[in-house]
Amino acid sequence: MQRENTKAQGLIRLLTQDLLTHAEQKTACELGDRSQYIGMSDIGKGMECLRAAVASKLGMSATPAATAVDGFALDDVAHVLARQIILQRGHWQEYGIEKALAATGVKLVPQLEISIEHSGVPIKAHLDFTLVWGGQRPAVRILELKSNERIPDSLYASYEAQLYGQVGLLKSCWTEPCFSAPGTGLQSVTFPQIIQGLFGVALPEFPDDVDIEAWVLSISMAEVRPFGPYLPDKAMLEICLQTAVGIWRTAEDVRSGNLGLNDLDYCWGFHPLCDWCDVNADCPKFQAVSIPSDSACGLELEELAMLKDQKAALEGRIAEAEERIRQTFHLVGGQDWILTGNYRFRVTTVAGRRTLDRSLVADILTSLIGDELKAQTALEQCEKYSKPIERLYVNSINLPSKFVA
Ligand code: SF4
Repeated sequence: MQRENTKAQGLIRLLTQDLLTHAEQKTACELGDRSQYIGMSDIGKGMECLRAAVASKLGMSATPAATAVDGFALDDVAHVLARQIILQRGHWQEYGIEKALAATGVKLVPQLEISIEHSGVPIKAHLDFTLVWGGQRPAVRILELKSNERIPDSLYASYEAQLYGQVGLLKSCWTEPCFSAPGTGLQSVTFPQIIQGLFGVALPEFPDDVDIEAWVLSISMAEVRPFGPYLPDKAMLEICLQTAVGIWRTAEDVRSGNLGLNDLDYCWGFHPLCDWCDVNADCPKFQAVSIPSDSACGLELEELAMLKDQKAALEGRIAEAEERIRQTFHLVGGQDWILTGNYRFRVTTVAGRRTLDRSLVADILTSLIGDELKAQTALEQCEKYSKPIERLYVNSINLPSKFVA
């Protein structure tokens, strides 16, 4: 038994090292040296938290080098492995989706690169998928894949910024030699040239004659939901470019010692970015009174984290079981209750949740009253606030000093 445990642990360690090595190679191969330019994901991050975006430009990372894993305790290896699986599963989905799209013969460019310089700052966009149609009604669709545990109700602002940056650059650089398709030999050409070279399709010389949209495909293990369309928008592109310049200049200031990382603005309040942030360990947002990790409270937090993991796993199993039972009901052509042992079950349709579309109400009120300000004031007067409630925030700390070799 002891020998088998050791073998299993060796396998986990090997898989962790392989995933880390693969991530390093894939980033170097597809994205190059990320410290040398501002990417769209940097811009998205920078719009939410400047401190996090600048730290990642400075190469501050909580991800260990693959070679460092040999010296880790098993718990730390498991922690790194879990994080890598979540971070890398999007790439696996991307591979499958690319094969599926290609199977229908659609004209598809994976990882199209747009490279520009703005106010002296190198900026690059890497588009997951660019789909093209020529002919009488030429069209381009950008698809950005996002892997999510659960499909969100609305898109995060950082994702939207990425999309506006991508679609804005595609249109504004259309006639410029800014486009490259990796692995094809087509580099630093215009967008119509790249499409002509790859597919023999002639696109209009200017983008105004082309139907251009960008979409996000949010993918969980059981669901896909498109968000969009995002259209080229000059004002949004300008905001993205200004954000890129801000991140670049601020990173230079921190590098030269004119600013400290903790002098920078950071996002306030509860934010999902913080759990995944590489520099959350010493973020001023969480300036805290420290208590020993083996105190009762420290142990309680450990247990809470474990219970939450168990709850998430249980919720997943419950959802799967419910889906199987629902399918069984339909397969047996169930109309009414079905009895089995001590249980009976049925599937019915219930009315959807009723909600009020606030912006629609504001629009209708404005058109009725004829005054937007009065409509907003009327809406605010009708709002009710419930009593404040206490909310517990627990944040896992990513430890760069522990993991970086
Ligand atoms: S922990 Fe949160 S607030 Fe602090 S830098 Fe990271 S993302 Fe920003």
